[in-house]
This record gives sequence, C-alpha cells and structure tokens, in this order.
Amino acid sequence: MTAVAENDVKLECCIAGCGPAGAMLGLLLARAGLNVLVLEKHGDFLRDFRGDTIHPSTIEILDELGLAERFLALPHSEVSSLTARTPAGLDIDFSFRRLKTRFPFIAFVPQWDFLDFITDEAARYPGFQLQMNAEVVDLIQEGEIVRGVTYRDAGGEHAVRARLTVGADGRSSRTREAAGLRVIATSPPMDVLWFRLSRRPEEPETIAMRSGPVKAAILIDRRDYWQIGYIIPKGDSDKLRAAGLPAFRRTLGELIPDVADRVDELQDWDQVKLLTVRSDRLAHWYTCGYLAIGDAAHAMSPVAGVGINVAIQDAVVAANVLWEPLRRGRISTRDLARVQRQRELPVRLTQAVQVVIQQMFFKAVLTSVKPPLVPQMVLRALLGVPVVNDLPARFVAFGIRRPHVESPALATPVEQPTAI
Ligand SMILES: Cc1cc2nc3c(=O)[nH]c(=O)nc-3n(C[C@H](O)[C@H](O)[C@H](O)COP(=O)(O)OP(=O)(O)OC[C@H]3O[C@@H](n4cnc5c(N)ncnc54)[C@H](O)[C@@H]3O)c2cc1C
Repeated sequence: MTAVAENDVKLECCIAGCGPAGAMLGLLLARAGLNVLVLEKHGDFLRDFRGDTIHPSTIEILDELGLAERFLALPHSEVSSLTARTPAGLDIDFSFRRLKTRFPFIAFVPQWDFLDFITDEAARYPGFQLQMNAEVVDLIQEGEIVRGVTYRDAGGEHAVRARLTVGADGRSSRTREAAGLRVIATSPPMDVLWFRLSRRPEEPETIAMRSGPVKAAILIDRRDYWQIGYIIPKGDSDKLRAAGLPAFRRTLGELIPDVADRVDELQDWDQVKLLTVRSDRLAHWYTCGYLAIGDAAHAMSPVAGVGINVAIQDAVVAANVLWEPLRRGRISTRDLARVQRQRELPVRLTQAVQVVIQQMFFKAVLTSVKPPLVPQMVLRALLGVPVVNDLPARFVAFGIRRPHVESPALATPVEQPTAI
C-alpha cells in the first residue's frame, strides 16, 4: 500500500470527464464538503450519440439526494414496459410495474438535460468547480504516483494537482491510457449507424425497437426528431456506403415503415455517423493516486441501455468509499481497490448478460442467418411467468447490485437552484 497524501494539496479530487459518472461523483464529493474540479473537453453536453435512459435505480439515487421530484419535473417521458421483438418475429414483453420501487419506469430525458441538472445541483456546493472546454491531455506522475493532470483550454496548457485523480473520460479514456492500465477487450461484433429523421408531434412519445429477420434499429424520441440507431455487423459501414444512399434509404423504409415517408431527408452520408461499439474492462481500475470509473473502467455496449446507470452506480460507490479518506487527507491504493472490489462483479455480470441478449436479439442481424423459432417460443413461454419475467425487468431497472448513497451531506448549499 502506498500513501499519496500531500498535505499542501488544496484540491482533493480532479475528475477528467463530465459524463454521467464524472458529474455524479463531482456532486457527491462536493456535497460531502470536498473540493473537486471536473474538467470536460466539450463546451456543452449536446451530443447526439448519448443515451437518454434514466432507470429506476438512478431515480432512487436522486431520491436519496432529495432530487427525484425536481428531476422528474424536467420534460421527459416514462415507459413502464418494453416489448422486444425476437429475430423470429416473437414479441416478448417486460414490465417494471411489479418491481418494488417508487419509480417503476424508465425516464427518457435527453442526456444533456440530465447532465445540466446534475451539474447545476453540484454547483450549489462551494467545493464544486466545473471547467468546460478543458481537455485533459496527460497525468502528472511523480515516480509511481499520479498527482493530477495537465489539460488544454483556449488559454493554453495548464497543470492541476489533486490528491486523487479520477478518470471518468469515457470509453476512449486518455487518462487510463496515460496510467498504463491493461485493457481486456471483449468487443461486440456490431456497430451502430446514428442519424436523425424528423418526428411529427402526433407520433407516440417513446422509444421503439424495430427488427426484421436480419435487421434492427432503435428510435429515440427527441421531440422534434427521431434519433435512430441502425445496427450493422462490425466493419460493414464501408460496404453499405458502397451500395449507395438510395439502397440504404430503401432498406430503412422497409425496416421502419413509420418513417418510410421521410427517409429522403438523408441526402448525404455526412448525416450518418458511424459509432463503433466497444465492450471492455480494465484488469485494475486504479493505480496510486488514480482511479477509473464508468466507461473509462469498463466500456459498456449499448445493449439493454444500462451504461448510464452502471456509470452512476460506480460514482455512488466511489463517493461512499473515498469521501472519508479524502477528507482525512490520506487516500491509499487500498481504498481505490475497495471501489473496484465492490463494482467489478456487477459490471462483469452486466457485460455477460449483454452478450447473451446480443446473441438472442442481434445474432441474426450480425450473421444474416435466421435463428430457429422453437427456442424463442420456449423463452417467450418462460417469460410469461411473472416471477421469471421480473428477472430481465429487474436487470434493466436496477442492474446487478443496487448501491445506495452513503456519503454524507456535510457542505451547505450556497443557493437554491433556479426553479424549473
Ligand atoms: C451507440 C450507443 C448508445 C448507447 N445508448 C445508451 C442508452 O440508451 N442508455 C444507457 O444507459 N447507456 C447507453 N450507452 C452506454 C452509455 O452511453 C455509457 O455507458 C455511459 O455514457 C458511460 O458514462 P461515462 O460518464 O462513464 O462516460 P461518457 O458518457 O462517455 O462521458 C465521458 C465524458 O468525458 C469527456 N471526455 C472525454 N475525454 C476527455 C478528456 N481527455 N478531457 C476531458 N473530458 C473528456 C467526454 O466529452 C464526455 O463528456 C450507449 C452507448 C453507445 C455506444
């Protein structure tokens, strides 16, 4: 065990990246009375590829922080059950209504609204600082110990020292690379083409999954447009492009008849972004003075849309374990190892379940081979039994292990957030 305490350090924690993991950890540590700086490379949170699902476990965490009511006052839609169509054309229903929770639904909130909400709340605490347009470029390392980061903004390059540096900078994490942590990759065999088509006000407010025998797409309601993710076998993007945009539009119209009348809005491949799907994990989430959480520690595939919740749960556990050592001014690798120990099994099991779902629902899309009907009929019959049906619903709603907020509220908020 190596202690990385430095008594003259004013900043207890520097967090690289303000996605769900970094924002939530910043809020919890500032609420516990610590000085925390979050560095975010973008100037805002407005990015198309972000997922929009906030699941019951995250709303429960917000409730423990006294924020659920204000969060649910944000414009959102609620979905209490989901239907997944198997490649053989069977509909399997999942319901959250029987689960023991005050919030038996998924709230669909654009992630930029969610992140604005969390960072506005964090900004009420005097210890919280968020710097946008600040890209972390490296870790400051003295021997084996990480002492902070260097980052770049419009004013040039700067150094910031902190007792603990947290990498919450997502699946292409610069900090985990700089820390030299070993990545174990289990890449899913798929990619997603991501684009927008307009949405009419009278269309249902929801998220929808459309799958044909060998194709699948997901539609996310963003009020005046649909954000559409079209699932393709990994590496097939060039083949699709070579076949031409008219062929792509035709396929799309057949797969999603709801939007067939507006596929012509796609006039250029520049409107279609390729998102490489990745699933991996670090062998060790930490080194002396540095901890990775969220996608930086374990990139989550989009399957079942659970990555945001898993990232938030990492942040809750990191704050539960680390607030006190940080406050005492002595944080050790043993503390950081405790975070990994509490989170690693839930993350690995979640990734394993994602692989199973991927096999069940996307194998046909990825291999163009229509799967046999009988096993899917057995599955549907099994899922017709309420207690069995609750298992996938519980997985999506709560994840594998549901942490609760144990870090205290020691700081006094400086002002009430603006009324919504
Ligand atoms: C196509 C796709 C769809 C998905 N859909 C869903 C969904 O619907 N629901 C769901 O729950 N999950 C979904 N996921 C997974 C989910 O997006 C992630 O698991 C989740 O966002 C992880 O949160 P995070 O905070 O760890 O990382 P991120 O959300 O990736 O946030 C990292 C942040 O760090 C910033 N950053 C990166 N590098 C630097 C740097 N060097 N310096 C400073 N800042 C930096 C980034 O700008 C970003 O704001 C999806 C994933 C994919 C690929």
